Amino acid sequence: MTQFKDLNLSQALLETLKEKGYDTPTDIQREAIPPILKKRDLLGIAQTGTGKTAAFSIPIIENLVESDIKLMSKRVRALILTPTRELANQINDNVEVYSKKTKLKSTVVFGGVGPLSQVRRLSTGVDILIATPGRLLDLMTKGHVKLDQLEIFVLDEADRMLDMGFIRDIERVIAKLPKKRQSLFFSATMPKDISNLAGSILKDPITVEVTPASTPVEVIEQRAYHLDRSNKPLLLIDILKSHESESVLVFTKTKYGADRVAKHLDRAGFQCASIHSNRSQGAREKALKAFRDREIKVLVATDIAARGIDVDSVSHVINYDVPLDAESYVHRIGRTARAGREGSAMMFCDPSELKYFKAVEKLVGYKIQEVKDHPFFGAPPRVAPVNNPAKKLQNPNLKKKSKGKPKQGSGHNSKKKVVKPSTPNKKRFSGKKKAPAKS
Ligand code: AMP
Repeated sequence: MTQFKDLNLSQALLETLKEKGYDTPTDIQREAIPPILKKRDLLGIAQTGTGKTAAFSIPIIENLVESDIKLMSKRVRALILTPTRELANQINDNVEVYSKKTKLKSTVVFGGVGPLSQVRRLSTGVDILIATPGRLLDLMTKGHVKLDQLEIFVLDEADRMLDMGFIRDIERVIAKLPKKRQSLFFSATMPKDISNLAGSILKDPITVEVTPASTPVEVIEQRAYHLDRSNKPLLLIDILKSHESESVLVFTKTKYGADRVAKHLDRAGFQCASIHSNRSQGAREKALKAFRDREIKVLVATDIAARGIDVDSVSHVINYDVPLDAESYVHRIGRTARAGREGSAMMFCDPSELKYFKAVEKLVGYKIQEVKDHPFFGAPPRVAPVNNPAKKLQNPNLKKKSKGKPKQGSGHNSKKKVVKPSTPNKKRFSGKKKAPAKS
């Protein structure tokens, strides 16, 4: 089996990887590191969770150390463009770790925060800049950063960039890059518009494909729960109660939905937070950190906000809503079972979502196992009394059996301690709502 020492890396980097606890390269690392070291352009079809950040960061660091070109003011030697702030921060954290035994300087820029400290850090030049497109363009337009001496350009998560409407920004950045450069292009999927974009950026690239969409679906245990929409909050609580000590990521379709679910869980006494693009950068980072540090066990997220979540220990992904775009299912459940760990994914599906559910099954290529022995299977719609959280949590089926007693939760975990609708010491990370932040 190929080891990092077989990949022609410097002693300093090998030691860093050892300290980080990486023994063997992942597939994408094994395939991508050698051609990148040889300064070839690369088209990587791989999603987050495959080890792709190290696959491009490690050889970039080696190449920059080797070429040893003197840094000039406001100049950048390698640019990594990525769609979200979370992802940008995460890549920057990785780059800092991998380059700690070198003299390379790296920094990260993204929107939603004041530009002053970013401008200051860029003023003396940086070897590796990690950026989201909007803020990078702002800084370029104002003359705070110049890309005329760029040696390496990385476009990360190209498919998500296009989904998020960044194509014009990307084209404007590319127009400013020197023609002679090394380019690396990563995308989880490769529809026609993405391969056209790749064709316009790369020269004679090596293509590396790491079992794309199918990787997570093979290793993640997946279950489907069919139920009436009004019973989803009850099932969610029921399931969370049986996974109290684990880290659960809940996906909703909309920002509003994410807040509503988080509020509902909060009332039921769960320590949770929500992240989506309407939340301030500070609130998102705080929530992510709390989730990563396991101070909160439940994080409710929308697809875009969750794209950059790199939390190794996510044990369960709950699709509270079936994603409208089947491909998102693969990205969502890819948040669990990271780096060889086990993971489990659940999907709640109400009758109105059936066609999207079928589209997901078609994409993954098999039937997702259906759970029928849950308390809300075939249950009638819940009639929720207004302004009474305790009653809101009741299952109409159980109500008949436990007449008069407001009992929550049920079914497979009915022996578990009942969590009161509201507990005093709960922690909730809810920042003030702000206008949608630019990247
Ligand atoms: P990425 O796809 O870059 O987001 O990486 C997914 C996760 O895998 C991250 O938490 C990395 O720290 C971890 N990882 C990357 N490369 C390796 C490796 N060779 N061995 C073990 N873990 C790794």
